[in-house]
Parts: sequence; structure tokens; C-alpha cells
Amino acid sequence: MDDLRRRYLLQQAELGGADIILGEPSPATSEAAPSAARATIPKWLRGAPPIPGPGLTIVTAAPSLLSDELSRLETLDAVADRIRTKYCCGLCPNRTNAVPGEGNPNASLMLVGEGPGATEDATGRPFVGQAGKLLDGILEAIDVPRDSVYITNIVKCRPPQNRKPLPDEIAACIPYLHRQLELIRPKVILALGGTAGEALLGARKGLGELRGKVHTYNGTPLIVTYHPAALLRNPNWKKPTWDDVRIARQLLDR
Ligand code: URA
Repeated sequence: MDDLRRRYLLQQAELGGADIILGEPSPATSEAAPSAARATIPKWLRGAPPIPGPGLTIVTAAPSLLSDELSRLETLDAVADRIRTKYCCGLCPNRTNAVPGEGNPNASLMLVGEGPGATEDATGRPFVGQAGKLLDGILEAIDVPRDSVYITNIVKCRPPQNRKPLPDEIAACIPYLHRQLELIRPKVILALGGTAGEALLGARKGLGELRGKVHTYNGTPLIVTYHPAALLRNPNWKKPTWDDVRIARQLLDR
């Protein structure tokens, strides 16, 4: 094997499971037989960035203390039922289905997107369209089964033409998310996109500033990364996303 080829294969091995989201050839199927040391390191961890330093810390008033109505919702099903049967903002009357969220009520990892798209509105389920398929691949690449996590959005009804939710729509809907977080108590929160990061952290900082730090939401580590739909538009963001999700994954093991 010439030196160039050897270096290429080593570089691929450093990328770990990136082939699943980056479309790179898998090192496992390449000529680079993993060394004994490499074989013991999970594929996703190979070449992963270290856990970065702290970012913002937010402490919200406990949603159950703020609102009698929310405190009576003692299960995720009760929260979902309330979301499906009531209107909280101008998005609700135009929905086909509300999309409260789904997944493991004891999830260690909670994913928060922006708001339902067309497929989600049609089915009542989060992240089941094109962006959802990419998200499934990302979860697979970090060895996290989709049914082990809880997935939801900042707003639970589809904004028209998939526009960003407006501040008053976010303000009206976000208490549901705070209550979901209070009930699930995940170990790590992954905010998908700047809108989710800003809404959860109550900060107008933009994705660029929010990425690459471990924020704290009511004591829970929170990582902000690109929205999967953004990756479909710009594949150059897949590598930084891959780094972010591997940071979140390391926090799960901490
Ligand atoms: N985009 C989101 O932010 N959420 C979904 O559920 C689907 C697409």
C-alpha cells in the first residue's frame, strides 16, 4: 500500500462512523483493518472532539409552579392530549395534526427541533420527512436507537410554508416543552438548529455563537447543532454537525 493510500485510510478511520451521515466510505469495509486498540473504541468516538467548556446557564421557573394547568398534566400522554385538543396560538387552527412529540418517556437524550413540517403535520409525528431520515442516520451513527430518545419541537403545530415560528408563537407553546423536559428529565438535550437553541436558552445569540459549548438548561447539559434540514441544503455543515452530536454522545456516557 503506498503512503498516500495509507494516509487516506487512516483519515477515514479517524472519521469513525461518519460514513453514515457524511457519505464517506466506511473504514470497516476498507482495507484498513482496525488495530486491536481501535477495535475497542466505538466507531463514533474515533476522532471525536473533546467535550468543550461551559456556555450559557439557564434556570427556568418550574413550569408546574408557573401554571396550575400544566402541573395537572402529570404524564407525557396528558401533555400530548392537551396539545392535541386545545389551541395556544395562531398556528393551531391551521394544523392537520398537532405534533406533541414521541419517544421514550425515560429518555436519556432529548432532541428538540423547530416545528413540524408538511409530513409531520400530515402524520402527527416529529421528524418523519426528509430531515427525519437524516436524523435517523445521525442517531444510528452514534449508536443511539431512535426509540430510546424523545423527539419534539419548540412549536407543536406547523408554521405556514415552514417559516420560522414567531416570538409570540414560541412564547405561547414553549411551556409545553418545559413541562415535557420536567417530566422526562433527560441526561442531555440536543437542540437542532438556532431557533431551538435560542428558544431553550432564552438567548438571541445565533447558531454560530451557541455551537461548541456545553450550555446548561435547569442543570441539564444542552448542545446546539445544525438543523437536519439545513444539512440537506448545505452538506458542508454535516462535518460540524457530526462533531456536535459526538459531543452530545460523550455527555451521555459521562
Ligand atoms: N423540522 C423540525 O424542526 N421538526 C420536525 O418535526 C420536522 C422537521
